[in-house]
Amino acid sequence: MSRIITRMLGYSAEEVSRWSEEIERENRRAARTLAVSLLPLSVINLMTQLIVAGDSVNLLKAFWLTAYALAMLAVSRPLVLGWKRPYAELLYLLEAPVLLLSILLGTFWDPQRQAITFLLFLTVLPVFMLDRPDRMALVLGIWSAAFAVASRLSKTDAVFYSDLLHVIEFYVASVSVYISLLRARLKSLANAELARFRLEHDRLTGCLRREALENRAASYLDQPILLFMCDDMGQHGLYREFFGQEASDEMSRAFAGTLTETFGREACYRYGGGEVLCVLEDLSLDEALEKIEVCRERLSSFRYQDRPVALSCALGYVAGTAHTEAELRDMVRLADIFSHQARRQGSNRSCGGDYDPTVLEENVRRSVLLGEASGYETNRLTGMPGMSHFIAQADELLRNVVDPARFPMVGYLKLLNLREFNNRYGYAQGDALIAGTARALEAAFSDHYLCHITAGQFALFCYREEAEAGIRRVAEALRDSGTGYRVQCKAGFAPYNGESAVALLDQATSALESIRGKKGVNVCFYDTQLDKELRFREYIVGHLDEALRQDWIKVYYQPIARAVTGRVCNEEALVRWDDPTYGFLQPFRFVPLLEEKGLLWKLDLYVVRQALRDSLYRMREGLPLVPVSVNLSRRDFEELDMVEAISALVKQSGLDPAVLKIEITESAFVTNQELLKGELRRFHSRGFDIWLDDFGSEYSTLHLLQELDFDLIKIDMKFTQNLHAGGKNYIIVSDIIDMAKRLGITTLIEGVETREQYRLLQQLGCEKIQGYLFNSPNPLSYIVRRAKSGEGLPFEDPASAAYYDAVGRVDLDEPMAERDDESGLARLDVMPAGVLELRGTEMACLRGSDSFLAKFRQCGLLGPDEGDLGIRPLLQTPPHLLEAAGRCLESEGWISFEGRDCDGVRMSIWLRRLSAERYRGGVALLTVLFPGSEEKKERKAE
Ligand code: C2E
Ligand code: MG
Ligand code: MG
Repeated sequence: MSRIITRMLGYSAEEVSRWSEEIERENRRAARTLAVSLLPLSVINLMTQLIVAGDSVNLLKAFWLTAYALAMLAVSRPLVLGWKRPYAELLYLLEAPVLLLSILLGTFWDPQRQAITFLLFLTVLPVFMLDRPDRMALVLGIWSAAFAVASRLSKTDAVFYSDLLHVIEFYVASVSVYISLLRARLKSLANAELARFRLEHDRLTGCLRREALENRAASYLDQPILLFMCDDMGQHGLYREFFGQEASDEMSRAFAGTLTETFGREACYRYGGGEVLCVLEDLSLDEALEKIEVCRERLSSFRYQDRPVALSCALGYVAGTAHTEAELRDMVRLADIFSHQARRQGSNRSCGGDYDPTVLEENVRRSVLLGEASGYETNRLTGMPGMSHFIAQADELLRNVVDPARFPMVGYLKLLNLREFNNRYGYAQGDALIAGTARALEAAFSDHYLCHITAGQFALFCYREEAEAGIRRVAEALRDSGTGYRVQCKAGFAPYNGESAVALLDQATSALESIRGKKGVNVCFYDTQLDKELRFREYIVGHLDEALRQDWIKVYYQPIARAVTGRVCNEEALVRWDDPTYGFLQPFRFVPLLEEKGLLWKLDLYVVRQALRDSLYRMREGLPLVPVSVNLSRRDFEELDMVEAISALVKQSGLDPAVLKIEITESAFVTNQELLKGELRRFHSRGFDIWLDDFGSEYSTLHLLQELDFDLIKIDMKFTQNLHAGGKNYIIVSDIIDMAKRLGITTLIEGVETREQYRLLQQLGCEKIQGYLFNSPNPLSYIVRRAKSGEGLPFEDPASAAYYDAVGRVDLDEPMAERDDESGLARLDVMPAGVLELRGTEMACLRGSDSFLAKFRQCGLLGPDEGDLGIRPLLQTPPHLLEAAGRCLESEGWISFEGRDCDGVRMSIWLRRLSAERYRGGVALLTVLFPGSEEKKERKAE
């Protein structure tokens, strides 16, 4: 019978008994639910019978039913809450009198009634014994038979046969319903058990997972246990590298399999890639060690694909009793450390000891130090351990020893200019410097772990609070290196974030790289911001080619205006990166980075190509072709022959080299000057103008002006700020402009934002002006649109450029200071001087010193100063001035005439033709006003 039922269930008797506890819990819960639902029903039944009160038998039954439901409710609550099995059986006893009474009532008492009421009571019974299908069948059988017998004895044949039929029907139906119910329960239990198993066990090796130890920790407390940390000595990793993942998996299975077969699957936890932790409860240390030896023997004869592979097992063991989960974790830490020690001692070694919670920290530290003493290689020069040892130690320290609240971190220190030091003082001194650095590190980080990676690179482990001060001390020690040479050291630190020491060292290296070029910054900590920045840098470097291909790189143009005319005479090409991920990027985000990586030449050539293309487009659109300046970097010249590359592009475009101006920033000359000078001379010889960008922003480069023929200097925009007459910047800019004029170099100033700045600069004789006052850098489409619609600044006719250049170049402070000047009038100090323009019979003032303009205003030739910028037409043209100007057209030298100013004071006016405008007929006349002879006399008398 039981076999039949087992077959019907689909689960064996053992399985059913394994889950008996869960099933019983479910049974109890079902009993309670039944009681709860039965009670209101039976109370209603009782009330109905009382009100109708016709049938004493029914009343009795209703009474019984209510009493039964109450009793069941009373018993079932504590049962559900966890009474043990014998109490559950109380319910059988509770049901027995009910069933008995029901039989009597349904047979002898009232022979006309059928079995229905009895069956109703019987329904409740199996709920308590679903876990015992055989007993359920038997108990149901006995009660049913009892009813059948009572029915036979008390009833007529017809009623008896009807009863019998009901009872048999009931029996078959209920047994099969209950069996299928049980079967469903068993299935869900089996699934839950499987899921739990999978959750707890490692799929590859079948061992318990590391996390399962936490769930089971309580079961190991307060009893002597033995922890074995078995390490495969990195063999699975080695095999993964040589033969692939499959070999490595096979190896891990064999290693863990041998241990689980020896100690049992439920005692072994897969703790790391090749580490298995065995928690042994009933074994003595000697017995367990004997078993490990057997394991080792088996492992040593392991074969992979018919190749003998001697697997070995390093063992770290700890014996003791843990009273809390924290203590259990400490024991595991200790076993782990011992296993590392064993691993360092060679294959198949064991290390271990007893667990004593009071000296755990001491134990751990000692074990790490012991590890240090056990034969690692040290650097000959510094006596420090090497990288691999450091990594192992740091990993151990981070995982086991350190106090996370103090922010442990891995550091990377580098001597930045060791190569130059070696070149200058030789390798022996260099070695001494490295050894000195090691000693300084030891002094600054005395009780920490240090390692010498190679040459001037060191790694260290320390806490956050000591990092900065420690590095400062090292830097100070290096400052007094005795040679007088400034040795630079910088360090990056990566705070412990759960990652391995190797990963942290990588991050520390990146942190250092991020401050390599930053002056005065010696220490950098890796953080999420830096992480973001590094990702960004990686992205830029990795996507440059794509950006160039996909036109994410845009060339913008900023106008440069001629101070005299206020017209656009040049434009500067400035690059932008319109990135699909990072959005619109200004050059400071990517230009210095690409320069550092030696990739800027790609971008610069792209800008040149694009600027030439745009110039051709402007010509096609009928706009004046103003020369465009492009920015180059020193690194460009180191990476390729920039002169050749740009010349080829210009040639290809069919344009003249004069359409491009080469800007090179002052700071580019800090190193490798000779190369740069040579290349710039080559540019010059091919007809390109060279502009010196950001003049005055960096180190003094005055000697460059002497050695190289720059065509223009761009005065740095920091001088434009706070520019007011007589102020410091005013004096500096004024002197730079004077010097440049005497050297025959054009001047341009950047960053002009106000009309006041423009007026002052115009007064100082600055020739070209660039800044937001005119416009910010804009795309070509914007410029073309504005030019066509007549908005924005007018463009200068390129044919007039030379004319205005000559006008601008004159130094109005020394208008007659030319070397070939024979008039004897040179270097008279305060002479009102200016440049007048003759155009047909119209005259205008292009430039003028303050006194010159004042005089002209006084005489009513110019209107009052209303801050007008650009060319100022004369309000009237005195005939003798016009006549003298006419004479100038035919003469090369100075022309003079005597006149009187509006106060009647005599003066002589000197004029000389400065330059003539091609095609447009403008003639520029340098004009100097001298006090007349009477005035001179008066002055002398004064
Ligand atoms: P830079 O060559 O000195 O360019 C002048 C910078 O000053 C530009 O910044 C420009 O937008 C800004 N600027 C112009 N007028 C004003 C003003 O009135 N006020 C202020 N506050 N700023 C003004 P941008 O475009 O951000 O360029 C910055 C630097 O990036 C450039 O300095 C240049 O060194 C570099 N750069 C830009 N494009 C390229 C390129 O294609 N190649 C190379 N190698 N470097 C480039
Ligand atoms: Mg520039
Ligand atoms: Mg600049």
